[in-house]
Amino acid sequence: MRSRWPTRPPSTWQNSLDALVARSRLIGEEESLGLFGGGNTSTKREVPDLLGQPQVILWVKGSGSNLKGCEARHFSPLRLEVVRRLTGRTHMSDEEMVAFLERCVVDPKAPRPSVETLLHAFLPERDVDHTHADAILSLANTDRGEALVRQVLGKHLLWIPYLQPGFALSKRVFEAYRRQPSAQGAVLQKHGLITWGPDGHTSYLRTIRYVSMAERFLARQRRRARWTVRAQAAQPRADATERLRHWVPVIRRVVSRQRKVCVTCWQTPEILAFVNTPRLLNAARLGPATPDHMLRTKRLPLIIERAGRSSGAVSADALARALERYAASHERYFLKYRRPGDVLQDPFPRVILLPEIGMLTTGHDLTQAAMVATIYRHAMTIIRDAESVERYTSVSERQAFGVEYWPLELYKLSLAPPEAELSREVGLLTGAAGGIGRGIAELLIDRGASLVVTDLRRRDVEALAEALNRRAGRRRALGVVMDVTDERSIERACDAALRTFGGIDFLVSNAGIATVASIDRLRRIEWERSLAVNATGHFLVAKAVVRWLRAQRLGGSLVFISSKNVTAPGKDFGAYSAAKAAETQLARVLAIENGEFNIRVNIVNPDGVFEGSGLWKSIATERARTYRLPPSELATFYQQRNLLKTRVMPSDVAEAVCFLISRRAAKTTGCLLTVDGGLREAFPR
Ligand SMILES: [Zn+2]
Repeated sequence: MRSRWPTRPPSTWQNSLDALVARSRLIGEEESLGLFGGGNTSTKREVPDLLGQPQVILWVKGSGSNLKGCEARHFSPLRLEVVRRLTGRTHMSDEEMVAFLERCVVDPKAPRPSVETLLHAFLPERDVDHTHADAILSLANTDRGEALVRQVLGKHLLWIPYLQPGFALSKRVFEAYRRQPSAQGAVLQKHGLITWGPDGHTSYLRTIRYVSMAERFLARQRRRARWTVRAQAAQPRADATERLRHWVPVIRRVVSRQRKVCVTCWQTPEILAFVNTPRLLNAARLGPATPDHMLRTKRLPLIIERAGRSSGAVSADALARALERYAASHERYFLKYRRPGDVLQDPFPRVILLPEIGMLTTGHDLTQAAMVATIYRHAMTIIRDAESVERYTSVSERQAFGVEYWPLELYKLSLAPPEAELSREVGLLTGAAGGIGRGIAELLIDRGASLVVTDLRRRDVEALAEALNRRAGRRRALGVVMDVTDERSIERACDAALRTFGGIDFLVSNAGIATVASIDRLRRIEWERSLAVNATGHFLVAKAVVRWLRAQRLGGSLVFISSKNVTAPGKDFGAYSAAKAAETQLARVLAIENGEFNIRVNIVNPDGVFEGSGLWKSIATERARTYRLPPSELATFYQQRNLLKTRVMPSDVAEAVCFLISRRAAKTTGCLLTVDGGLREAFPR
């Protein structure tokens, strides 16, 4: 690991808080030093109080924020003198500690200080950095951890046997420091590294130096253990996708028992090399690489050993039973160690390891599932490296419970914003790049849904997915090329949904084309093309999605974007109207056939939606000719012919779609909802 410290630090780094923020960001940049809220930093500086009297402030990272990209507002300022008086105490409960520290914070708007604040406060050194560095954990999580740390990192680091973060650990580190004030840091067994120094630069460089020493040692061990060779050869089985198609709907159904989750598949060579090595899988059964990981990954992954067998591979039912056993075992673990006030968390696994297939992770959306995967990839590295030196060890079951159900750790999760109406719902949208499609996609994303957006051109769907992810501030959209008339293409899109989100909960069948010609002049090829897209296209996509929904057994919702022309056809629109009528009838039969599976099927009939519409652009001139109008007046003509004298926008259609997908329409199926400003001749009957 290289130092990222600039040769000439900017002058703003002179200000103590800016310097701390900058240093924390440098540490946060290194994924192998800590992830998503793991690790914390601090500095102690003298600053005048409100009345101009000198006081020493400890700035420490707030609970739940990331070092990566952190800002000044993520740090808490505490009156150090008061906090340090706690060094005289022998015991302090977590509740007392939190209440005490809250009262030491001088800024009422500051976040709650880190659970490891006392560790920083007790050490007299000015700057302190605490990380969960992978390389340090590979040494500290072995049978001979202490001896290895001495041998590899030298005598300037203190060795602190495992203790749960809090008052006692802070006191232990403080006392060890007092016995050896020349120490430059400490290794916390099965937890991480602390370094300190008279200034931030020294503390930072010590972290980098010790981590680099451990990394160089581990690289040599790794070469000896030949892991790299194994990783190069690691590929998923040829029939991995076939197996996943079978398993993932069942996995998602079972792990979604409390609330729906996203299930994401990961198949990098490193992951495969890990899951294909029985020795490493056995090590993974021992527990987390650092207790902080458990907040996202739980204590243990679920390992399905028979997943990769050529004959007698695990069936979907056996997989469901394995998931149930995992949950039952987690509940037993909870009952065994629970303390008053503890509440059972979701008992299902967050990480599922499948030899020769890969790794599945779960989360309430793709961003969270990816977070779990990132943490577990680091855990894999730590376990693998520990096993190339020694036997990997982890915290005991009781110690793990202490952190997994620690209210101070669970507090970090409570900082997440409330979930939106369609959060945890995954949808497939066809014709997403058009005017109505885009409007629907945007509103679905705003309402919290995850979305596979499909259309004919790669450029369009990828740009749209990117824009939607930016809009959401999270990864919730995936752009996939799909032709609704091509079954292979539909299958590929469904596979992408399977790998990325673990399934589909709703379909918005929107793709359509329009042809304008009176029937006596309509060419057969145009008629057939309209039927292929506007009727058969809906049939093929719905068929694939309904099969999936039935296998997943979590209910579902299908919304078909039809047309006012179904109830009130217009002239010169025969090919379009006939195909749209077929689509509508298809939707109704789907509603009849799938009610027993709690799959609702509804239809939206818009009229005259011009905004951003490629469909209208292609036919506007001819449509204008039909009504004997100049093309520029067409939009006004459509507006004037409805009862509300209003223009129908993509966002209006999107609103109807969101309503029909949502639980607000839980009792509605087989319904036709008009979004046309009110057209008497098109009233549903
Ligand atoms: Zn820590």
